[in-house]
Amino acid sequence: KPVAVIVIGMAGAGKSTFVQRINSYLNSRDELRPPYILNLDPAVTHVPYEANIDIRDTINYQEVMKQYNLGPNGGILTALNLFTTKFDQVLDLVEKRSDEVDHVILDTPGQIEIFTWSASGSIITDAIASSMPAVVAYVIDTPRTTAPATFMSNMLYACSILYKTKLPFILVFNKIDVQPHDFALEWMTDFEAFQEALATHGGTRDAEGEPTYMNSLMNSMSLVLDEFYKNLKAVGVSSVTGQGLKEFFDAVEDSRGEYEKDYLPELEKAR
Ligand code: GDP
Repeated sequence: KPVAVIVIGMAGAGKSTFVQRINSYLNSRDELRPPYILNLDPAVTHVPYEANIDIRDTINYQEVMKQYNLGPNGGILTALNLFTTKFDQVLDLVEKRSDEVDHVILDTPGQIEIFTWSASGSIITDAIASSMPAVVAYVIDTPRTTAPATFMSNMLYACSILYKTKLPFILVFNKIDVQPHDFALEWMTDFEAFQEALATHGGTRDAEGEPTYMNSLMNSMSLVLDEFYKNLKAVGVSSVTGQGLKEFFDAVEDSRGEYEKDYLPELEKAR
């Protein structure tokens, strides 16, 4: 059975470029089979890969905006909702190809919350994950997450997605050609190093020399994250050079086992 990789990330993190890299990686190796790719972003003007199923083929988001008198975000959300009503047909198509592919890749809309905070996003995620092993690839713009407070916000967002989907989770530190991700790995494994970074970046004490509210809040949140990190994998990649792709696919294979061990039993209970 193929494994589904749901690619999620903030706008500009490099989702589409990453999917393109995945595509060329899987196409370029004899021992690997090309993926089956779904583009779920109705508003993207150019995708740098050939999608097998593209939301834009069935839904014209400009028309949706006009017809329902919506702004861009409402247009994208409504387009996704309309597409979701036909997702059973999409799943049929995917399942028909399941003997020929090892990876089904989902590229999600540019604005992250349209997928992560919508009913459609949940329906699509649940539908895919009940039909085959699935994993979330959370793409991070590494050069833009080097400030400790930004890093923590980003990780808390990732944490909320993990909590909502409950699927195996891979943190994909993208753009390591511009900014290596070793600082992130250090912060994720060495709690004190992160606390120290927090303190030196705007850590403050009040007039009495006591830690401020913000300081103790940050400390408590980093404790939460410490627990979060134990449950996931982190890889560094460059979607431009292809560095780290092998490690990424190793993590995907590990996630398959995790899905069977943790997600599947819950799914069967719920049925
Ligand atoms: P999306 O909005 O998440 O789909 O992001 P895109 O795939 O459109 O990428 C956003 C920008 O980041 C583009 O200008 C890409 O060329 C650039 N980019 C993506 N991945 C990498 C990478 O690994 N290294 C570098 N240097 N740039 C990247």
